[in-house]
Amino acid sequence: MKTDFLIVGSGLTGAIIARTLVDAGRSVLVLERRSHVGGNVYDETHSSGIRVHTYGPHYFRTGSEKIWEFVSRFSDFYPYVACLKSEVDGRLENWPIAGSYIKRAVGEGWSAELGQQASNFEEACLSMMPRLIYEKFVKGYSEKQWGVPASALDTALAGRFDVREDDDPRLKTQKYQGIPSQGYAALMRNILRDIPVLLHCDYLKHRSLFRPECLTIYTGPIDAYFNYDLGKLGYRGQRRDHQYLPDIDCYQECGQVNNPSADSGAHIRTLEWKHMMEKAYADKISGTLITRETTITPTDEDLYEYPFPDAGNHHLYCQYLARAKVIPQLLVCGRLGEYRYYDMDQAIGRALTLAERILSYDREQTISGEIGL
Ligand SMILES: Cc1cc2nc3c(=O)[nH]c(=O)nc-3n(C[C@H](O)[C@H](O)[C@H](O)COP(=O)(O)OP(=O)(O)OC[C@H]3O[C@@H](n4cnc5c(N)ncnc54)[C@H](O)[C@@H]3O)c2cc1C
Repeated sequence: MKTDFLIVGSGLTGAIIARTLVDAGRSVLVLERRSHVGGNVYDETHSSGIRVHTYGPHYFRTGSEKIWEFVSRFSDFYPYVACLKSEVDGRLENWPIAGSYIKRAVGEGWSAELGQQASNFEEACLSMMPRLIYEKFVKGYSEKQWGVPASALDTALAGRFDVREDDDPRLKTQKYQGIPSQGYAALMRNILRDIPVLLHCDYLKHRSLFRPECLTIYTGPIDAYFNYDLGKLGYRGQRRDHQYLPDIDCYQECGQVNNPSADSGAHIRTLEWKHMMEKAYADKISGTLITRETTITPTDEDLYEYPFPDAGNHHLYCQYLARAKVIPQLLVCGRLGEYRYYDMDQAIGRALTLAERILSYDREQTISGEIGL
């Protein structure tokens, strides 16, 4: 089959680039090594009728009108604003930390522990909040998450949460927030409708079968593309232990409860999926399904979730990137290709930008990884 573009991976990045190119009249072939499309936003329905996000809870939110309009072409969304709790001293407290909690714990006129410029994640947190608050909410959680001391992590990680003056319980405050009415798997199938997708096909095992002159948009792990010859990039993932509780309809007060303390178990968070469903539908289901997530260092690429935020991995990634950029007709992108945590809306925005850049190149022109810059 002759195609203009080969797309490796059917997650948000691959699927949206495919959709945009096909809508512009180009032909594409998508390869996916898993048994399903959708990458890590995929979800499934448990026999009880409860919908589970297979690779961890996904709360869609964006402040961008353009991205909201784009996803709304493929699915309706029901409103869902994630409000999380952290279990601290045996009580469920807001996450992000409520302003009133900080005042209660350390007094009205509180100030952050550190004023100086931070050189690591721990210092960045201490420049945002008092030490007591950091130790109760952040230190234990982060060390469970990454398996290393918080002082070994990158400063930028602290940019993923804020410290509130008020008690706004929302995890994020963007204008548009929701979950696809028929689930993420259906959203992804709709994005890829009428686009040829080859499932169970690992591109790296079969690359000689595909035409080298056709632009390859590769959204798999960048180190795997080079057969890990400079070493493996580090990732963290989660083991998920599911438990269906037939005799109770509600286990906890919200969809996600974080467990920052080492004393209350190794798991990092407990999810209760019914909270993330449309209430009218969830109320009809008897029993409830909870999932305890425990962080692991995965060896199986399929379980790679969070790129490891430290200088060594960043340096290794830059070495692979430099090599990828000079290979003609190759574009490496997406969360695994760019070794970068992207929220869904960021992944979509990036995919739309890349697709527009690809289309703006002349058909005959050689496209190289420079396009990803
Ligand atoms: C635990 C967790 C929770 C998250 N929660 C949220 C959230 O609440 N809100 C939010 O906005 N974002 C969330 N995200 C981020 C979201 O998952 C990503 O933005 C999204 O998955 C990025 O899509 P992608 O296409 O870049 O990567 P992926 O979804 O990983 O897609 C890559 C695809 O490529 C395939 N592939 C890889 N190698 C090959 C190969 N050699 N051959 C063929 N196919 C291959 C993979 O099987 C996969 O399907 C979360 C992420 C994680 C890890």
